[in-house]
Amino acid sequence: MPNIYEQIGIRPIINASGPTTRLSGGIMDPEVADAMREASQYCVDIAELQARASGIIAKITGAEAGYVTSGAAAGLLLGTAACVTGPDPGKMNRLPDTEGMKNEVIISRSQRNFYDHAIRSVGVKLVEVGIADRYSGAGVRDTEAWEIADAVTDRTAAICYVAHPRSLPPLEEVVEVAHARGVPVIVDAAGQLPPRSNLQTFIAQGADLVAFSGGKAIGGPQGSGILCGRRDLIMCVALQHLDMDVLKQQWNPPESLIDKSILPGAPHHGIGRPCKVGKEQIVGLLTALGRFAGVELEERAAAWRDRMDELVAAAGDIPGCRFAIDTESRPSEVPMTELKLDESALGKTALDVILELQQGSPPIQANSARISEGIVLFGPVCLKPGEPERVALRLRTILGGRSTSEATEHHE
Ligand SMILES: *Cc1c(COP(=O)(O)O)cnc(C)c1O
Repeated sequence: MPNIYEQIGIRPIINASGPTTRLSGGIMDPEVADAMREASQYCVDIAELQARASGIIAKITGAEAGYVTSGAAAGLLLGTAACVTGPDPGKMNRLPDTEGMKNEVIISRSQRNFYDHAIRSVGVKLVEVGIADRYSGAGVRDTEAWEIADAVTDRTAAICYVAHPRSLPPLEEVVEVAHARGVPVIVDAAGQLPPRSNLQTFIAQGADLVAFSGGKAIGGPQGSGILCGRRDLIMCVALQHLDMDVLKQQWNPPESLIDKSILPGAPHHGIGRPCKVGKEQIVGLLTALGRFAGVELEERAAAWRDRMDELVAAAGDIPGCRFAIDTESRPSEVPMTELKLDESALGKTALDVILELQQGSPPIQANSARISEGIVLFGPVCLKPGEPERVALRLRTILGGRSTSEATEHHE
């Protein structure tokens, strides 16, 4: 019986890279998929569900409030909109026209990336600060907190900070100069899980809003994310995200999410309305988050290591190849396997190997982040049982290793 993809002529791939959006995210735990299926069988008030999600996310992250978004990028859009408008429904209705509003967001030049379309789509201008000498080899310095402070004006709506173990200046320093000037800090922490402690780290360091992906290591639906932070800002997020096609007499949002008493009236559909989140996404995300934040993480990390060990063992000895379980290249506890190639002896580059893997049947996707070092990277998160061995066998075919049985004997 062909699977649901084969029925429509789509060939599933072996994802030995990681849960990236381009490759459709990860493999959902059956518990999460079951929760989504069950959620799909009821109708609920979506604002009530988001208010409950807020409480759960707050408890897990240590933030005042939280919200389920359609992804980290959506969280950046919604968070920026909240910082620009505050609780002013007139401003909300006018976005992305930001005339007369605070409409600049400051970002360190070394942290610019194309997810910032999400920020710019609110109608703000990004103000880039600093020069990253350290990346060019021309020096050791990067943006410093005083340069961010120097760029703050009465038009500054927020400071955007892209979190990564390499990010400079340190978040605490950015928060200090921002808060001294009354400016909120939005953190893009999309891929900074695990470690699960990061669910709390950036909030504890003073960030006003933090965006995570739900479809990366949390293991939630691919089209989900979390935004957590200040209660007043999450209220502005909800107001610009929830469907507002409702008579004012009927509009009774949960008080824990939206304080109606400070509003002159209700805004209409907001700039976040295209980032719709369904009940299935909300329930799926909450289920996955509960599991991610719980004890299962340790078990999952052990399972990840096992899959990488399986891949290395099944590949055995291949001349010109050296395998190592790598923990350096990712800011996390996800063990990656690095395959270092002697490119001149093999007559193949790391990129050649990645392309050959991808062109085979089924296509195998490896991670290309370190091809310039002659390294093919493999990640365990999206590999299903049996797949590490299939990847290893394909590698032996491509790289001309001896047969697997020989290799196994050699290891014993
Ligand atoms: C993945 C990623 C995003 C986008 O996250 P989605 O959940 O896919 O919207 C944004 N920023 C960074 C740094 C990311 O790695």
